[in-house]
Amino acid sequence: MKALIIGSGLGGLTAALRLKAKGFDVEVVEKYHQAGGRLNQLKKDGFTFDLAPTFFSMSYEFKEFADYCGIDVPFKFIELDPLYTVNFSGSDRRFVIYKDLKKLAAEFNGVESGFEAKMEKFLAGAARLFNDVEYRIIKKNHDTILGYLKTLASVPIRHTPMLVRTMWDEMNRHFDSYEVKVIFSLVAFFLGATPFDTPAVYKVLSYTELRHDGYFVVEGGMYKIVEGLLNELDRQGIKIHYNTEIINFVEKNGKISNFIDRAGNRWKADCYVVNADAAFFRGQILKRPEFVDEKLDRMSWTLGPFTMYLGVKGHIPTLDHHNYFLGTNFKEYSSKIFKNEIALDKPYYYVQANSKFCPESAPEGHENLFILCPVPDLRFKPDWSDANTLADTIIADLSQRTGYDIAANLVSKTVIDPVGWAKTFNLYKGSGLGLAHNLGQVGGFRPKNVDELYDNLFYVGASTVPGTGLPMVVISSKLVTEQILKRYEPIR
Ligand SMILES: Cc1cc2nc3c(=O)[nH]c(=O)nc-3n(C[C@H](O)[C@H](O)[C@H](O)COP(=O)(O)OP(=O)(O)OC[C@H]3O[C@@H](n4cnc5c(N)ncnc54)[C@H](O)[C@@H]3O)c2cc1C
Repeated sequence: MKALIIGSGLGGLTAALRLKAKGFDVEVVEKYHQAGGRLNQLKKDGFTFDLAPTFFSMSYEFKEFADYCGIDVPFKFIELDPLYTVNFSGSDRRFVIYKDLKKLAAEFNGVESGFEAKMEKFLAGAARLFNDVEYRIIKKNHDTILGYLKTLASVPIRHTPMLVRTMWDEMNRHFDSYEVKVIFSLVAFFLGATPFDTPAVYKVLSYTELRHDGYFVVEGGMYKIVEGLLNELDRQGIKIHYNTEIINFVEKNGKISNFIDRAGNRWKADCYVVNADAAFFRGQILKRPEFVDEKLDRMSWTLGPFTMYLGVKGHIPTLDHHNYFLGTNFKEYSSKIFKNEIALDKPYYYVQANSKFCPESAPEGHENLFILCPVPDLRFKPDWSDANTLADTIIADLSQRTGYDIAANLVSKTVIDPVGWAKTFNLYKGSGLGLAHNLGQVGGFRPKNVDELYDNLFYVGASTVPGTGLPMVVISSKLVTEQILKRYEPIR
């Protein structure tokens, strides 16, 4: 029994190994010239940059995956503590976010009275919610809307208000200070959205961040995840064909008979797992009327990433490993930014100084900086000919806020705007994290991992269930494998 995986992102690679462990012959095709999808790497001018993800939560999902496949986790991960630092413009005070609640409370002395007790209460509610939804909703296939609604109805009623409140409402109920409310609602951006349009159920992310399992980084850089998986694929004889983009298909008797790549080659298997964006692929390749551009445009998509990879001579002592640089108009900025309704002259952004943790990612005496600025996707800002203006604005702002002249010490600079992200990995309109996670686009309402028409076609990755982010994508590979096995087991 042969499975063809279309795409070698984390979803594709983990699905490949899970299916192989269950006895399938597996082959992978990938549009880009190297594996990993968004979890990729850029080597330039002596620097090695992480292309996108810089840390992950729910590390135990990688252990579950490795156990499932009968292998060791093929990379080493290390817990982050402190998690990150937050800087507000116009203030010298930096907030270091520790997992330890006592140390964290000390950071908010004089800012939020009674912080520790308030945070304890907030996290206790988030923990209850997490425990009530982790297995029931997140780690489960929801094959019918009715079944999904029944499952939702089984979630304890005490959580119902979280469906109607926004994350920001929830912050307002628990905390008083601007700084605390802003900092602990930043997790909404990990979903590619803002706390003003994200339901309060996602406070579970604060629990995963501060209490449950925390955040993890990878020894040697995030791409070691992909390199480790590639070693396993290689060891198990799974071949990846690079520079191979699927652009068409042939159907026969309600099944996919083969897929066709840009060079006209045909790829044949018994079943197919699409790791390309599950909504976009249905529209672009399968030409499904429900997923044509006008329909996709009306769906909610996550932020457009504007990313920079900078090599800087010297050391910047005022930067930590993970840093947020925010302004003082959070509500106005974040509620307008994604619709391109506010100028990008005072951008909010995140900086990962990987050389602080992984010195081999930069030549000696240099810093390796990855910068992510959330911007409108191509629906709202199709023209990025001004990308260098934004890049210069961020470099000038970061120089001023760190007290280090970055422009004068720049030895390497690469910018990827949403046009670049869209083209490189087929991300719809440059949406960095895929489909958004509002309640109408999760669980039973998210594009399914089983195709609606062809019973040998499946999906894995950020825009199918359960959602975006590295651990969710690893769970996605488990959910799709379950669907495939239901139809093909026993295959040995
Ligand atoms: C800037 C940025 C920062 C992020 N930071 C984090 C973070 O810190 N932590 C975290 O957990 N998550 C983070 N994420 C999210 C995370 O990267 C994604 O959720 C995850 O990597 C998605 O994996 P995937 O397998 O679903 O898709 P992808 O990684 O997109 O893989 C899909 C693959 O399919 C290929 N493909 C597409 N179309 C075709 C085709 N037609 N034919 C052949 N191949 C095709 C693509 O080239 C790609 O390699 C970040 C994302 C971005 C953009």
